Parts: sequence; structure tokens; C-alpha cells
Amino acid sequence: MRTLILLLCVSALISMALFAQSQQPDWKAFDEETMRHFQALVRFDTTDPPGGEKPAADYLKQVLEKEGIPTKVFALEPNRPNVVARIKGSGKKRPLLVMGHTDTVNVDPKKWTFPPFSAARDKGYIYGRGTIDDKDNVTGALMAAVTLKRLNVPLDRDVIFLFEAGEEGASRLGIRFMADQHFDEIDSEFCLAEGGGVVRQGGQVKYANIQTMEKIPRGIELTAHCVAGHGSVPLKTNAIVHLADAVSAVAKWRTPIRINDTTGLYFSRLAELSGPADAQRYRDILSSDPKKIEAADEYFLDQEPRHASMLRTSVSPNEFNGGYRSNVIPSEAKARLDVRALPDEDPAKFLEAMKTIINDPAIDVAYTSRDTRPGTPVAKLDSEAFKTLEANVRKEYNAPTLPTMGTGATDMAYLRAKGMQCYGIGPATDIEDGPLGFGAHSDQERVLESEIIRFAHFNWDVILDLARAK
Ligand SMILES: [Zn+2]
Repeated sequence: MRTLILLLCVSALISMALFAQSQQPDWKAFDEETMRHFQALVRFDTTDPPGGEKPAADYLKQVLEKEGIPTKVFALEPNRPNVVARIKGSGKKRPLLVMGHTDTVNVDPKKWTFPPFSAARDKGYIYGRGTIDDKDNVTGALMAAVTLKRLNVPLDRDVIFLFEAGEEGASRLGIRFMADQHFDEIDSEFCLAEGGGVVRQGGQVKYANIQTMEKIPRGIELTAHCVAGHGSVPLKTNAIVHLADAVSAVAKWRTPIRINDTTGLYFSRLAELSGPADAQRYRDILSSDPKKIEAADEYFLDQEPRHASMLRTSVSPNEFNGGYRSNVIPSEAKARLDVRALPDEDPAKFLEAMKTIINDPAIDVAYTSRDTRPGTPVAKLDSEAFKTLEANVRKEYNAPTLPTMGTGATDMAYLRAKGMQCYGIGPATDIEDGPLGFGAHSDQERVLESEIIRFAHFNWDVILDLARAK
């Protein structure tokens, strides 16, 4: 009897192993197809504004439907559709949403060595707008969808794919429209989207950033009101001078430093991976010694500005307008500040604090409308999704995971606001590429071919681990 039970157990184990194996694709074909779709998607000019994501959306729809995956299209404007595809599971668990945006930021073609929509391959790189924002995630999602369908993987949960329009400045047509009007189509326990990535330095993978929270973009406008006059008679009340002083004061303002769970874990894990001097600063910033904190902060402001921004609500004066001819003292001048608020920032109190810093009755300080995003809770660090991501970062990249607060904004904010646990992921990029002008939204954009392929594998493994029947 015992032998029989043992035999049954062994045969069950063997069939489980065979089944697990059959859930893996033919990797050579998978890689070739990943490259083909990636290049095809980069070649659509979907710069936003004006948008025009339709050709990319049509392409995705056609690839999915050819595999027998039904798609639904939701569009507020005909040329700017969102595409949703759902692969059904048993319903044992709540769905997983995987999303990517099909639009890109604009280009100045003169600044590109290879044309921005060529998807040119050169020395191991692929060049093009959207190669790391966000046609990488779109391609990873597409490959996961067709592969799940082809292998007919039994799933414990639905996997929903959302290819969205308008992320780069028109979220009312994309994620806001989907979250407000069609939430039942995308409602999920977890979501994966852009906003994270793997950091390489000197060609070596250092760590992965998994985005678990993000700052909230806000706009503040400063308006100087004064009396107009003749330029030959300088006035102390000159609006340009008042505005310049106000802008200078807010730029020098060290807004308060606040560490949260995500940034706390981020800096402590980063310290473990860094050389002694860097590690000391990452520990100092978490210490309770104001002198050490200040010194580390000063260093970040000079050398690691993204880290300085992660510590606080940041203010960057990015527009300055005043005057219209050289012999007239203008009665008004305006500046616009890009404010990136910590998720727990109180907007009213922050505005009052800024007024105190400016300390000039001639300056009005007020929030302006902009394409902002809702404040949201942090994605959980002990969830099944975060643990699965961490395990697969280890498996695919042999590297640790740092939970990260994005200084920029993503469409995940709209989903986190509804309680979804969202995590930002992305391919590996070289830390050296940013200063060379190859980053997202930069003059040029590129990615290593090998890293696009590796990301597609990682993405597949994560989705399989989170969704397959167990
Ligand atoms: Zn993006």
C-alpha cells in the first residue's frame, strides 16, 4: 500500500513537472516575435500631443484577435482609443491588470542620430521615441497575452491587458476615462505598469526599482502686481524684480525632509549595495542627527538630485514671463513652479508655507490647474505581487529589489486611488545613458536589444507566477 502511494506521488510530481514545462514558450521564437512587435510599435508616430494612438491600437488589436483573443475598444475620441483584452481564469483569485501606454512624448528630429520612429538597430541598441517609455511595457504585455493564449495556461485569475492612450498629458482620454467610465473592465487586485526598471552600471546589473508609490504633481503660479512706468525712471516696485526675488527665494527653500516606508527601505537597501562613502550618506539621511541629514541632503542636491527630490515636496521654477519691451516697466509678471508633492503633503498648508518664504505682499501665490493625479495610498510591500516581483528580479537579474517612490507621475495613481495594488516595472537601462541624453523624454531614447528581450521574459514569468492555477 505504501509503495502504491509513493508511486502515485511520484507520478503526480512528474506530471506536474511536465505540465510546468509545457507552460513555457519556445524561447527562440518568443524572442524573435518580441523584437518584431517592438520595432513595429516604435515605428508608429504616436507623439502626444496630438496623440493619434489609433494605428498602434489597431496593430495590437489585430495581433490579439489573430490569436483568438477578443478585444474591446473604448474611445472618447476616435483617433485615441484604449484597447482591453482579457484572458479568462477560474476566478479563484481577483484579476491581474497589465498595462502600457501607446502614446509618447514629442521629438525634435534634428537631435536624433537615427530617425525617432525608425526603430533602428545599431551596436546592440534599438533607437526610437518610446523605446523605454512605454512601448517596452506595451510589447511585454502583448507577448504575455499571446503566449498565455497559445499555451492555454490554466489560470486562477483573469489577466487583463490595457493598452491606453493619452498618458503623456491627456489622461482624460486614457486612464481617467477608463477608471471613471469603464472600471468594471479593468478592476483587479494587482496591476503592473511602467515606472520601475533595472539599474545597470558599467554594464552590470546593480538592482531593480519597483515603483510602489509616486509623488503628486501640482502647479503653483506666482504673479507680481506693481505699477507700470517709464523705463527711464526705475521703480522699487518693478514687477520683474519682485518676481525674480520670489523665484529665487522658493528655489533656495529647503522644504522639509520626510521619509516614508518606501523611501526608508529604499535608502537602507541602497546602502547595503553601495561603496562606503555613498552607503554612509544613505544611512545618514535616515538618521536622527540633523547635521548628518543636512550634509547628506546637500550632497544629493549637488550630485544625486533625484534622491534629494525623493526626500521632500520639491519645487522647480520652470517658466518665467514678464515685460514686452525694453523701455516699459510692466505692471505684471508671472512665474510657474513645478511642485511634486509627497503623497501625505497638505496642499493648503504647503501654500501658506511658501507665502511665508516669499514674504512679499506684491506677489500672489496660487495653485493652477494642470494634468495632476490623485493622491494615493502606497502599494503593499508584503503582497503576493511584490514578493513575486522580488523573486523574479532575483531569478532573472540576480539582483536585489528596491521599492521606489517615483518623483514623476504615472497612470497607476488613478488605480491606486481605487484600492488597486500597483507596481511599476521596466527593462534594464544603463545609469550612464541618462547624462548622455538617452533617457525617457530626453533628446534621444534607446534601449539594449538584449534588455528588451530579458524584460519580456521577466514580465512573462511574473504574470505566470501570479496567475497560473496552483
Ligand atoms: Zn510613460
